[in-house]
Amino acid sequence: MTTPEEYRRRRQAMVRRQIAARGIGDPAVLAAMGEVPRERFVPESLAEFAYEDGPLPIAQGQTISQPYIVALMVEAAGVKPGDRVLEVGAGSGYAAAILSRIAGQVFAIERHEALAAEAAERLAALGYDNVRVIAGDGSGGLPAEAPFDAILVAAGGDRVPEPLKRQLAIGGRLVVPVGGEDAQTLRCITREGEEEWNEQSLGGVRFVPLVGAYGRGSVGWEEGSRAASNHRPARARSLPECIAAAAIPLPASEEDADFAAAFDRFADRRIVLLGEASHGTHEFYAARAAITRRFVKRHGFTIVATEADWPDAAVLDRYIRHRPLRDDTPPPFQRFPTWMWRNTVIARLVEDLHALNAGRPAERMAGFYGLDIYNMSGSIAAVLAYLDEHDPDAAAIARQRYGCLTPWQADPATYGRAALSGGYAECEAAVIAQCRELLDRALGSEDGEGLFGAAMNARLIASAERYYRVMYYGGAESWNLRDSHMAETLDHLLEQGGPDSRALVWAHNSHVGDARATEMGPVRGEHSLGQLVRERWGEECALIGFGTHTGTVTAASDWDAPRETKRVLPSRADSYERACHDSGVARFLLDLSDGGDEALRRRLAEPRLERFIGVIYRPETERWSHYSEAVLPDQFDAWCWFDQTRALEPLGPPEPREGPAETWPFGL
Ligand code: SAH
Repeated sequence: MTTPEEYRRRRQAMVRRQIAARGIGDPAVLAAMGEVPRERFVPESLAEFAYEDGPLPIAQGQTISQPYIVALMVEAAGVKPGDRVLEVGAGSGYAAAILSRIAGQVFAIERHEALAAEAAERLAALGYDNVRVIAGDGSGGLPAEAPFDAILVAAGGDRVPEPLKRQLAIGGRLVVPVGGEDAQTLRCITREGEEEWNEQSLGGVRFVPLVGAYGRGSVGWEEGSRAASNHRPARARSLPECIAAAAIPLPASEEDADFAAAFDRFADRRIVLLGEASHGTHEFYAARAAITRRFVKRHGFTIVATEADWPDAAVLDRYIRHRPLRDDTPPPFQRFPTWMWRNTVIARLVEDLHALNAGRPAERMAGFYGLDIYNMSGSIAAVLAYLDEHDPDAAAIARQRYGCLTPWQADPATYGRAALSGGYAECEAAVIAQCRELLDRALGSEDGEGLFGAAMNARLIASAERYYRVMYYGGAESWNLRDSHMAETLDHLLEQGGPDSRALVWAHNSHVGDARATEMGPVRGEHSLGQLVRERWGEECALIGFGTHTGTVTAASDWDAPRETKRVLPSRADSYERACHDSGVARFLLDLSDGGDEALRRRLAEPRLERFIGVIYRPETERWSHYSEAVLPDQFDAWCWFDQTRALEPLGPPEPREGPAETWPFGL
């Protein structure tokens, strides 16, 4: 049982890390956020997560907002003592509770009667007696109680409801999300005069839909203003048509020399980052291998840096760079998810790089490196083995969590299951000790490459240990540690390679893309490898994303679970993927960089959903587990599209663990 004292501690930490650190400075808002017990507003089974940095599911398929968003809205609305405030979309009543700590009188409307009743009960139990909860449609406001000094809307419509603007007092403010069904912009509208409103944007957000007379898709309220359709200019080109016009078609086979040649436009960059929309799609691997071969052969690239574990990649690198193989290191990539590196594409690439290096002087040889936190999969395996033995419940949770080591861990089912156990905290010290030991053992047998190797290892230990500690808890801190580590490792590789060295980076779209253009950045405070590289290298780097509409993928259902060939659902109607699919071009490259098509960039700049599949694919909860909002032309410099894709072909037995000594990749 978590004590009230512990909740208070977590609440203070939340105010510091999630609210104040992101620039909310209003002392009244910070005090209110520090006072209201959020654990009382979430379902009991989720109380453990009450102070995490995200929204949580509540009854009726609705959500309780992310604490930061509540604070942002309340601050933007400029709520002061004595104010009359209206909230539309009371849900759990949490935001109303925060408002009640600052304002004089709060009216909160909720269309779900059951939610409204529960919220009213909660607020009363906490003694917050200046809030009135009303069941009903609030999209048209609450005329009987108007005017209001502030109106907050916690659900997103496609336009600003006119009555809400008119129910503001002069000087009053309305904060409301407006936009598409899955992505909106938070707007702050100030009533400057009888007929004068001033508008400001507070950035991208995602709310549940505003349903009602003035809500999403409603038509009645167009009365009075002329219907928009009478006004439209001659039909503009649709987004898929714009994409089709700008697309550089790619050959049907990645083996075709014209395929990789299409990427030559980025060959003058110092760093070319190649993404992927899943960790198990053949075409993403084959395309990157073809580009890598060409860039190593013709354009002087000598660093192939991948989202792989350093020690495992080092084994392949020895072979690739014609260095003596060691017989005391275990075969590489033996741990889940083995297929990421044990597959037909990588096996061939290893041979090709080996052949390309033949006859080159050592310093001109292309090397293969792992950027990821030192031995991450080995460490996770050690954690799971320990927990399996000492606390099977915690082990089940850890598997769930590792399956979601992504920044948009938004799968309500995961939270639900995780909440069943006492948690991981009790085993933490033992687990860290276990990881530490594993690291010591592994490094004992690692000679690295002279001083460079030794220094690299020392750095690896330092960040790895911090990472183990925070990764179970998920969230921004662990993600940022990992991506900072990757960026630093890349910097070291470039430095060691000298001023003329050039690098190709293989990593998931979530790492390669600029986090500032996705939900990761502004709202969650997460950064990415691609962002860090861009901040440091500017025009000298190219971030290239990859995407697909449908097909099959090699993935698992859970961390450590057997790999499967899964069907990838056709992309959602509100996604970038669907716009690409509708272009009718089967494979193409889109240049989104400044030299590219400006009109297309503008059209693509309206936020849409984008699909991210990692080593885990959960089509049952696809929207929440795998889609996230992004602004594609800000996220990438180019976008490579394959409408239909197939599962990556793994090599070797499914997920080997113990078992006979293996010879991969050299015994093939
Ligand atoms: N402010 C809440 C967030 C709740 S989510 C919190 O802090 O937890 C938004 C809520 O808006 C949902 O509960 C949904 O049922 C409600 N809603 C949607 N359209 C509405 C409308 N027209 N009138 C009132 N409530 C609405």
